[in-house]
Amino acid sequence: MTKLLNGEKLAISIRKEISKEIKTLILDKKKRLPHLGIILLGDNSSSITYVNSKIKECKNIGIQSSLIHLPNNSPEYNLIKEIEKMNNDPLIDGFIVQLPLKKHINTDKIIMSINPKKDVDGFHPENFGKISLNMKAFFPATALGILSILDRYKIKISGKHTVVIGRSRIVGRPISILLSRKNNRIGNSTVTITHSYTPNIDFHTKKADIVITAVGIPGFLKGKMIKNGAVVIDVGLTKIEKNGKKSLLKGDVDFNTVYGKASYLTPVPGGVGPMTKIMLIKNTLIAALNNR
Ligand code: NAP
Repeated sequence: MTKLLNGEKLAISIRKEISKEIKTLILDKKKRLPHLGIILLGDNSSSITYVNSKIKECKNIGIQSSLIHLPNNSPEYNLIKEIEKMNNDPLIDGFIVQLPLKKHINTDKIIMSINPKKDVDGFHPENFGKISLNMKAFFPATALGILSILDRYKIKISGKHTVVIGRSRIVGRPISILLSRKNNRIGNSTVTITHSYTPNIDFHTKKADIVITAVGIPGFLKGKMIKNGAVVIDVGLTKIEKNGKKSLLKGDVDFNTVYGKASYLTPVPGGVGPMTKIMLIKNTLIAALNNR
């Protein structure tokens, strides 16, 4: 029997907790509301959708957001100018630059331009280094969302073997680091990280207690690739065209063969996605409290 890990429902309860914290720590003390800045470059439809849903999440929870939308062909220095403005704006608590960026922009240079204290996406090397060293830092939102799902559903991580498929800077790499940290509650896992150069991925996944897949290939993880009772976290989100329109969202997991074999599984949609959005807001609240 597989239990679905309901990220939607968890996100609602975390939203309530954050609203309560905003009331007691900010509004009751007559401080101004947390303020998230968002910089978007270009007209990539997925990026626009993600940004709009982040703005909507801010509205739902009652925090401020400001969007700077630059045209497709904006040069790198314009983007850096906007980053500098947000770095120096005392009314912006934290901000993000929506990724991926256009080919003419150096993503590393952009991330390095963000003040780590305002880096609520947790992508700056200072935050990345700190999480590796078990220090206080901003965790990337998706990794934090996965940790929260495992933690709140009381899934044992310590001493377990986790296989992560994918090594990107936004998902695979940070979650691998976080789960292997020395931490009884949300760490102490033995982590194997795999990627497109790993031969026979199923050799690893079949032995795993927890499989986290962040590849972006619908149906990639089949039931025969996991052991009975494994916990499966599906991070993949791919838009599938239906009748010429991009509509369905598909995960990396082949639901029909994994459901029934896994002990726990995050559905797509409604698993990791809603948790990612809410964790960005949580990071913004932390930034706001740190900044005052
Ligand atoms: P990415 O940067 O493209 O990374 C994909 C990773 O998968 C890479 O490490 C790549 O290996 C690996 N990979 C590709 N093909 C593979 C194969 N055949 N076998 C094994 N590994 C393979 O993608 P990402 O940004 O991490 O995103 C991954 C997926 O998660 C996407 O569907 C994205 O939309 C989704 N996502 C969802 C959320 C959410 O909130 N739910 C958040 C972020 C991302 P190499 O390193 O060798 O190229």
